Amino acid sequence: MEKKLKRDTLCVQAGWQPKNGEPRVLPIYQSTTFKYDNTEEMADLFDLKKEGYFYTRLQNPTNDAVASKIAALEGGVGAVLTSSGQAANFYAVFNICEAGDHVVASNEIYGGTYNLFGVTLKKLGIECTFVNPEASEEEISKAFRPNTKLLFGETISNPGCKVLDIEKFARIAHSHNVPLVIDNTFPTPINCRPFEWGADIVTHSTTKYMDGHATQVGGCVVDSGNFNWDEKYPGLTTPDESYHGLTYTKAFGKMAYITKLVAQLMRDLGSIPSPQNSFLLNLGLETLHLRMQRHCENAQKVAEFLSKDERVAWVHYSGLESDESHALAQKYLPNGSCGVLAFGLKGTRETAVRFMDSLKLVAIVTHVADARTCVLHPASHTHRQLSDEQLREAGVAPDLIRLSVGIEDVTDIIDDLKQALDNI
Ligand SMILES: *Cc1c(COP(=O)(O)O)cnc(C)c1O
Repeated sequence: MEKKLKRDTLCVQAGWQPKNGEPRVLPIYQSTTFKYDNTEEMADLFDLKKEGYFYTRLQNPTNDAVASKIAALEGGVGAVLTSSGQAANFYAVFNICEAGDHVVASNEIYGGTYNLFGVTLKKLGIECTFVNPEASEEEISKAFRPNTKLLFGETISNPGCKVLDIEKFARIAHSHNVPLVIDNTFPTPINCRPFEWGADIVTHSTTKYMDGHATQVGGCVVDSGNFNWDEKYPGLTTPDESYHGLTYTKAFGKMAYITKLVAQLMRDLGSIPSPQNSFLLNLGLETLHLRMQRHCENAQKVAEFLSKDERVAWVHYSGLESDESHALAQKYLPNGSCGVLAFGLKGTRETAVRFMDSLKLVAIVTHVADARTCVLHPASHTHRQLSDEQLREAGVAPDLIRLSVGIEDVTDIIDDLKQALDNI
């Protein structure tokens, strides 16, 4: 039923379909556990023979309803919510990689993910080679090894605001028989559905636009169901001893990847969201389509204003015709990208600090992509653990200011920027 409805309708209605007499609004099942009448019923659940709820670390009705809404929005076969975007990216990788494996990732990605791949996964024995996403297919292909298990990129990079050529990345991944994993946090499925361009797995930090109000930290992993898992992925295609020799691809078909992620990773690592948080996320999703439109309209006007101001050195927003990502944005993001833009001021690092400290309506916060306009200087905040060289590699100029344009009246936002510029 859900597949036939339009995306805006899915935002409002997908996921929770109450039966006769049930609550109209998605209930918060704030319960760790679920009751059964006899032992056998419970045993069948543990053996994955039957579907049902028994412990919230594995599955919870509130969490599942929201996950299935996101799966419907992305056009996937299934999804799992996680307790953060970081957990989502970790699980997406760890579900198909183990010690001795290798991944290839774009270097235009979120600082936290860069660190996860470059430092923490390495400690688990999984190596990562970072590539420049603008390099040629031949060049990027050179990073692949026989033990490479996936290719990773962000649709719109945080904080560089560059648009990824998803089809190119999908071609490269598939020519090496590995899946393409895309972090689609910034455009959300309202503005881009990476599965339509060949991506196999999509991840989200739902903390951002999906929630939209900065009330919960959360993440999501969605599977397209399209990737053909072969012997290169023994975790999916050979018997799992911790589940009585069950083989995920045989037992669950297109749901193999998602089922394994829940049955193994959630069971053993347990990064689940609280049902209360999933309820808040669902409220955000109900207006996602309306908010994204307004974020894009406002950001376009702010980008145009900044690009015309002589005190501004440069602006990255793919909606600007002069932007290096404009052509890719027209292909992948025809209805708009998101509300986030990056810019630099003429002058020194202190100029950026003076500008930011002069803002009144626009707040300095370590956040991005919510209803309230906010601003951040990655070199001194989110990316401070990276060296200057790593900063440049991750596409973050030391003068880069990340502006997340909210859904206020845009004239108030521009007025605040103007008075702060007058102050530098
Ligand atoms: C914020 C963010 C993350 C991390 O998500 P958290 O919810 O903060 O853990 C990952 N990827 C992108 C693109 C992000 O913007």
